[in-house]
Amino acid sequence: MKHPVIAAAVLLAGCLGAFPQTTRTLVVTGGHTYDPSFYILFEGDSRIKAIVDPHPMPYRREMRKGYDVLVLYDSMQEISETERKNLVNFLEAGKGLVILHHALVDYCNWEWWWKEVMGGRWIQTDDKPPRWKTTWKHDVNMAVHPVGKHPVTEGVGTLHITDETYKGMWLSPDNTVLMRTDEPTSDGPVVWISPYRKSRVVAIQLGHDRMAHYHPGYQRLVKNAILWAGGQE
Ligand SMILES: [Zn+2]
Repeated sequence: MKHPVIAAAVLLAGCLGAFPQTTRTLVVTGGHTYDPSFYILFEGDSRIKAIVDPHPMPYRREMRKGYDVLVLYDSMQEISETERKNLVNFLEAGKGLVILHHALVDYCNWEWWWKEVMGGRWIQTDDKPPRWKTTWKHDVNMAVHPVGKHPVTEGVGTLHITDETYKGMWLSPDNTVLMRTDEPTSDGPVVWISPYRKSRVVAIQLGHDRMAHYHPGYQRLVKNAILWAGGQE
């Protein structure tokens, strides 16, 4: 697209919303095994351009200029001061965050992270308050229902899915719950927007393996979450 008139027309069309802009997405993995079917979540939608970067690399450099949304599918407790700073800077700049499944176990002892950013905390031991431990169960058949209307759940409907459930997480009373289940081995809320207000944060508890990754409703949910977190509803 070298011709200046064509370039200007394309730029104008983009500004007017004639075709969507690309949401530059950094997908962070590491610290937990996963099914390679996970990558299908980032295919087939020209609005999402995703790069997967496993620990220890993703937060070693400044991320604000290169990406609009961070998708976490990692499982980490400790990162360096520099990595923390880059992560904090990214969120304070208003960039989006989507937290998937076992990434809800991240940074259990970083209060700012679990209380404000994630709106949920995995409880690792019951030897101190709140004196319970988070539990999990694999291969649970369940129905997950949207709560109200929201761009993140647009076109998703009720999910009939076989997936892993978590129970006994601390969940913030300030979360906005977007999907929930009545399945007794789950806490109930499985998709929520966290209380963090400087950027858009969506947490999705579902997503253990290929049964979720290949589920069209789950794929739609994750794509919607990325686009909404990146400011494209
Ligand atoms: Zn899992």
